[in-house]
Amino acid sequence: MINFDNAATSKLDEAVKEKYVSYLNMDLLNPSSPHLGGYNVFKMLEKARLDTLKLLNLDKSHQLIFTSGATEANNLAIQGIANKYQNRGKHLITTSVEHPSVSNVFFHLEKDLGFEVTYLSPNKEGVVTLEELKKHVRKDTILVSIMAINNETGAINPIEEIASYLKNFPTIFFHVDIAQAIGHHKLEFKDIDLLSFSAHKIHGLKGSGALIYRKNIIFSPLFYGGEQEASFRSGTEDVEKDLVLNYTISNVFNLLDKNYLRMKSLHDKLYDGLLKLDKFLILNSLRDGSSFIINFSLKKMRASVLVEALSNEGIYVSTSSACSAKKSKMSYVIYAMFKDTFRAENSIRLSLGYDNKKEDIDIFLKTLTNLLERLSL
Ligand code: PMP
Repeated sequence: MINFDNAATSKLDEAVKEKYVSYLNMDLLNPSSPHLGGYNVFKMLEKARLDTLKLLNLDKSHQLIFTSGATEANNLAIQGIANKYQNRGKHLITTSVEHPSVSNVFFHLEKDLGFEVTYLSPNKEGVVTLEELKKHVRKDTILVSIMAINNETGAINPIEEIASYLKNFPTIFFHVDIAQAIGHHKLEFKDIDLLSFSAHKIHGLKGSGALIYRKNIIFSPLFYGGEQEASFRSGTEDVEKDLVLNYTISNVFNLLDKNYLRMKSLHDKLYDGLLKLDKFLILNSLRDGSSFIINFSLKKMRASVLVEALSNEGIYVSTSSACSAKKSKMSYVIYAMFKDTFRAENSIRLSLGYDNKKEDIDIFLKTLTNLLERLSL
């Protein structure tokens, strides 16, 4: 089996699995308990938070709370800020190409709670530019949410530049979904107010992730209870998963340092191989986007037919993102870029993981060429 659907989820790293089992075997107690057993676990969690912040080059001016993943972190950040600061202003800015765990939150705030939302369009390279944002910032804007790397195209948004611009607006919070960036691309997060991610995109556990926020920010929780996680996320912590998150990130940062050139060369080999198939397909990703995601559209055949044919050959790829693929025939991301329905209905996403090898690319390109020649109209 060749997995080119790592943006949906990636293979659990063996060392991460072992670490998780070792925590499960420790019979860890409740970190809120008033005895030494609870306090020891509390201290372990505090250390894991600080170590993770350090890995992301952040210091104690940021705080990390553990969540069940990027979906929860995105909801907590966006709903939390919107609810808390709505008296200051009801204008929100996001993009038309966010993951549904961001866009559906904005749709809800707009439809049900009377917020006004501006959806920034990407350019033809899939990038949302600072110039585009500048046109829409208003006095009553309270939140800007822009993903770091697009999960369908791998387009890299200029989030450092945007963060630096937004520093001129102290009443606007800046949230960034880094689910497809963390461990894949080194970025500077210092000037960003809120960051969300999931562990399973970087060879970690499913149902695990975090929201990082600037420590002085207060936002509304999504649910109420025992006031764990700085009172923003009540409920007894999933301690073993939370502890292993730090290990997952340190592991993937090592992988990033050691494998940066290897992943880039796998990516470029795949990209160049696809370019040669221009009779059958057109690329939707830039060559200098993420080294982990390449998107293309078929010119003469249905994407679903190719996905199934590749799957029958043991090669797993995706149409749009896993969260949208079953619901809509069209990729709203590709449509937002090119306004071309056929191109948006027939896009394919290839997403690499650290466990992919050069041979996977060779086999894929050979199989793809054969299938395209056989199946094209
Ligand atoms: N944001 C982005 C950019 C993603 O790619 C994903 C996963 N597809 C998510 C958020 C949601 O992550 P999870 O399903 O782990 O909550």
